[in-house]
Amino acid sequence: MESVMTGQHPVEIDTSRPHPARMYDWYLGGKDNYPVDEAMGRQMLALDPRVPVMARVNRAFMQRATRWLAGQGIRQFLDVGTGIPTEPNLHQVAQEVTPDARVVYCDNDPIVLAHAAALLRGTDEGVTEYLQADVREPDAILEGARKILDFDEPIALSLIALLHFVSDGDGAHELVGRLLDALPSGSHLVVTHATSDFTPEESKAATEKLKAAGVTLALRSREEFTRFFDGLDLVEPGVQVPHHWRPELGAPVPGQDDDVIPGYGAVARKP
Ligand code: SAH
Repeated sequence: MESVMTGQHPVEIDTSRPHPARMYDWYLGGKDNYPVDEAMGRQMLALDPRVPVMARVNRAFMQRATRWLAGQGIRQFLDVGTGIPTEPNLHQVAQEVTPDARVVYCDNDPIVLAHAAALLRGTDEGVTEYLQADVREPDAILEGARKILDFDEPIALSLIALLHFVSDGDGAHELVGRLLDALPSGSHLVVTHATSDFTPEESKAATEKLKAAGVTLALRSREEFTRFFDGLDLVEPGVQVPHHWRPELGAPVPGQDDDVIPGYGAVARKP
């Protein structure tokens, strides 16, 4: 355990086992990770050397989807599984289009809480807030979000590279349904998700290695991914590998080729 100060409160960081937020930070070249995270990150790279490019492609999808949503007039964002701040963060993309956009971030990892200050620096007109909460407790997230967001106006719910850490046993699809039920018509759901569809053997090995280290990885098929959008209208171009979703809204990621990314991304509107 390591104690990190955040505001007035010390946050306890478990440095004895890898955590997804910190591994992801390591893939992105960040500094907010520990030797256990790097060691597991290197094992993932040994299975598939494209992992760092995948992380960047995922981040780039978040930026394009957020830019598109803000361009559609969405002014409120609820981002669960935010991760350690990485510029540009979602609120910066949204507030560049819509300076008074309101953004609520949420993560369950104390490392994100420790760095949340960077998520709270937005425009003067806009609002950003951070909630420490677990997606498996949707009521707590909704209660916190209601203090900041107007649930009578459309909200973009983004679950980006989050749901593959939530098992069916924990009710991944039902949890998304619970969150969506609370949102008004015109709201949107944004999801990216890793899949084993393209690399079954490497995926199996990765899942086993992470499981042995105490990390759940619930890779899903295209069909299981698409089920997250049941009852919603998928926005064109529908379910895609992330770099094929409206690529014109951003720059390509260095090192990205057409093959990369065993994952899916999509955006849908609640009717
Ligand atoms: N959304 C960011 C970060 C993805 S990394 C991006 O795409 O760039 C996945 C994040 O989900 C990590 O920060 C991890 O801490 C968080 N996470 C994993 N399980 C969670 C849970 N049950 N509840 C809330 N957050 C969770």
